[in-house]
Amino acid sequence: MAARKPKLAVWKFASCDGCQLSLLDLEDELLALAGAVEIAQFLEASSAVVAGPYDLSLVEGSITTAHDAERIRQVRAQSKALVTIGACATAGGIQALRNFHDIDDFIAAVYARPDYIETLATSTAIADHVPVDFELRGCPVNKYQLLEVVSAFAFGRRPAVSGHSVCLECKMRGTVCVTVAHGTPCLGPVTQAGCGAICPAFDRGCYGCYGPQDTPEMPAISTVLARHGMAPRDIQRILSTFNAAAPPFREESERHDAAHDQG
Ligand code: SF4
Ligand code: SF4
Repeated sequence: MAARKPKLAVWKFASCDGCQLSLLDLEDELLALAGAVEIAQFLEASSAVVAGPYDLSLVEGSITTAHDAERIRQVRAQSKALVTIGACATAGGIQALRNFHDIDDFIAAVYARPDYIETLATSTAIADHVPVDFELRGCPVNKYQLLEVVSAFAFGRRPAVSGHSVCLECKMRGTVCVTVAHGTPCLGPVTQAGCGAICPAFDRGCYGCYGPQDTPEMPAISTVLARHGMAPRDIQRILSTFNAAAPPFREESERHDAAHDQG
């Protein structure tokens, strides 16, 4: 009798769907993947749903409503392994900018009928609500890292996705450092690898869309950014975009927010 294929489920919370599209973007590998695992729930691709439990759940998006806070507990309960994918699921995403301001002000400014909106005051990572087995960073995630994570969990091994910085990717592709060569501010030293150092390859600095790498030296990067012309407000802003609520970026941006207010 043929062995049962691992059951894969893909779930969406508050997000743009870009990380799920990274899975569909695996054009050359998708058929092999579909042959190796049973894609039991993936509404971005098909309305056909196979009931759980699931061997692996991939979760995109952050928790921004009370309903989603309950739903992620249900997802966790029926998942043997749960992996979060992307900046929203691992760090609250762009929508975590709400965490630093009054959510009612945003709602009043955006919606004609604010009374229809039910939302939490914060946008939080999945790991703030349930245990997570692995976090894959990126906005969106790298499709090959995603394939590695799916294969690893489907077949019972740890994913070979290391937490080194974008700087190493510059070295690997032979890209000249834009900071050293041109004095361009760059967040590459504190940012998780995965994009292939696209921005430095096109002569611009990294703005951190892959979130913090494993051992980010935040005060040190701030010193370098300031030396290359960034004011405290600029540093606060560059750290407060896609991964504003990731703890290393959040703490450093708050330090510069305070410095700006005092200045
Ligand atoms: S360009 Fe940026 S990412 Fe590349 S080596 Fe220099 S500091 Fe690091
Ligand atoms: S901003 Fe940084 S992490 Fe994002 S694609 Fe550019 S180099 Fe890569």
